[in-house]
Amino acid sequence: MTVSLLVDNIGELVTNDPAIGAGSRLGLLEDAAVVVEGHRVAWVGRRAEAPAADASVDAAGAAVVPGFVDSHSHLVFAGDRAQEFAARMEGRAYSAGGIQTTVAATRHASDDELAANLARLVAEMARQGTTTVEVKSGYGLTVADETRSLAIAAQVTSETTYLGAHVVPPEYADEPAAYVDLVTGPMLTGAAPHARWVDVFCERGAFDAEQARAVLRAGQAAGLQARIHANQLGHGPGIEVACDVGAASADHCTFATADDLANLAAAGVAATLLPGVEFSTRSPYPDARAMLAAGVTVALATDCNPGSSYTSSMPLCIALAVREMAMTPAEALWSATAGGAAALRRDDVGRLAVGAPADFMVLAAPSYVHLAYRPGVPLVGAVYRRGQRLS
Ligand SMILES: [Zn+2]
Repeated sequence: MTVSLLVDNIGELVTNDPAIGAGSRLGLLEDAAVVVEGHRVAWVGRRAEAPAADASVDAAGAAVVPGFVDSHSHLVFAGDRAQEFAARMEGRAYSAGGIQTTVAATRHASDDELAANLARLVAEMARQGTTTVEVKSGYGLTVADETRSLAIAAQVTSETTYLGAHVVPPEYADEPAAYVDLVTGPMLTGAAPHARWVDVFCERGAFDAEQARAVLRAGQAAGLQARIHANQLGHGPGIEVACDVGAASADHCTFATADDLANLAAAGVAATLLPGVEFSTRSPYPDARAMLAAGVTVALATDCNPGSSYTSSMPLCIALAVREMAMTPAEALWSATAGGAAALRRDDVGRLAVGAPADFMVLAAPSYVHLAYRPGVPLVGAVYRRGQRLS
């Protein structure tokens, strides 16, 4: 028998269901309640009208929001790069080359070490309200290491991304074309059974437009869907490639022209913004306001990785999006939940509607606005994923 749970006395409920509430995209309801049956949402509405349930919890007037959808992370790795971070804070610039440090450590790590580090980071995310996470490979860069990275990632999420084209590893430094052949050939064959997505770092110092197209097209031919690291360190062709191949998302988009934004909107490609990167590398932030004005679907994600953004905190990303990218608190929360779902082409997660997975958190605050208003404060209380309390 399925047990039902009434989450009662919710002061402010964010559903992301535009059919609910007073026309806001967040679908806000005050004095609300939610009923969970098994792992799904069974009822949403005013608490005065709530049906009976087998058990209940009292939210005591707090805000309840959908679980965060972190649509961009690199969690399969070993070691850290704290010294590189310290050096950068002393004035050295970030470049794609630091990735090689993590590649060396990852290749030397055992499967158990990689799985344990991944589990630690996923648990850290869950405590901060993340209930859906995308995880990329990209620190193995051999057939065996990319394959095992994705097999390990697939144990914690269905949103796994093959990023063999992260950088050209040192052993292929003199023959990048041969490395692209490996990525689109035997490495893809090993990775594809464990991956939903294919990704490429399209950037000066990594892969150019032609190589990026080849990687994404090969992945698509193998049944994977495309996403891309685009326009992070300078103006480049990444967004154009994303639109050409029909990627779900172009990630970073820190340097984008008006034409790029018009193309993203027209092609229905989400822009996933990763403000933890700009924060951690002291770089200029992307122009979120221009994207929103152009009608682009904007997602927010952590890019959690040991080099350019070693934060697992979606609340931090929301605070940065509001403070540094001039997003409103409502826009930032939507982008961190429903926006992330759109970037993963998911219509089940990122919202609280009847039939959706019961992924949500109770905030230690009366309103979602506090996520940006009180930066750095641990406001995420009880977190539920698929109806089960995680923390
Ligand atoms: Zn990334």
